Amino acid sequence: MSLDYQHVLDTIQSEVQPLLGQGKVAGYIPELSKISPERFGMAVYCLDGRAYMTGDADVKFSLQSVTKLFALALAFSREGDDIWKRVGREPSGNPFNSLVQLEVERGKPRNPFINAGALVITDILASRFVQPDLAVLQFARQIADEQGIDFDQTVAESERKTANRNSAIAYFMKDFGNLHNPVDAVIDSYCRQCSITMTCAELAKAGSFLANHGTIPWSGTQILGLSPAKRLNALMLTCGTYDAAGDFAFRVGLPAKSGVGGGILALLPGEASVAVWSPGLDPTGNSLAGTYALERFTTLTARSIF
Ligand code: GLN
Repeated sequence: MSLDYQHVLDTIQSEVQPLLGQGKVAGYIPELSKISPERFGMAVYCLDGRAYMTGDADVKFSLQSVTKLFALALAFSREGDDIWKRVGREPSGNPFNSLVQLEVERGKPRNPFINAGALVITDILASRFVQPDLAVLQFARQIADEQGIDFDQTVAESERKTANRNSAIAYFMKDFGNLHNPVDAVIDSYCRQCSITMTCAELAKAGSFLANHGTIPWSGTQILGLSPAKRLNALMLTCGTYDAAGDFAFRVGLPAKSGVGGGILALLPGEASVAVWSPGLDPTGNSLAGTYALERFTTLTARSIF
């Protein structure tokens, strides 16, 4: 059955209005704190090519941790299951930038979506590509079919200047032998990767290969095989929204990846990819209005993976 997604998006856009401004914009990356928490955009990209948008869906925003999904997809497509020797596949139950588990678990991060795990993935890419951040950018351009996608140098520099915690995580892992390249190079690359900007419309399109069992729907290019695509979807469900992944699955019921820029990419496997952006975050670092919007999306459309 073909759904009237435009009506659904317009309904959500009016329903979220009271929530805008209630969340807190990420302040620890100084440049991100300048964005208004009142912004809201949402886009749906259907696997048959139909696209729907509402609100600020055409405004670029900082992807931040959403790029961890692209970096992981790229690393997984090149290295296969070897990556699991260096990073786990369990929810962490801790904040995304936590150090606490690393000591007991001897420098092996719980999953690739927390900062520690993403830094290991950057390190894996750094051993394969001269400029791993550029490899992730080119990958993002390919899956979004948009060559204009780029870094935001100001955001990258702003994060780099204040990256003490991520550097601490990286040094800690290096001490356990789980970081092979120089810490500074890995952190530089990670900060640039996180600064990639996209609109909701671009992000929804970029995620569509993951909703389509690993194959880009408009070109037929296979990025990941069936099994790796299934595994990435599973990781998004269990680990993609940090320590709120259980509550997110309960409320929304879709695999998703969020970022502290306020973006969330969610997948309706076999059907569509959905991107939402609203910079006000809840205490777990997920977009407050964005999570609510996705909850309403699965409720209004009666579609989820469950
Ligand atoms: N660049 C951010 C950081 O490393 C990304 C975090 C996030 O989006 N959760 O802290």
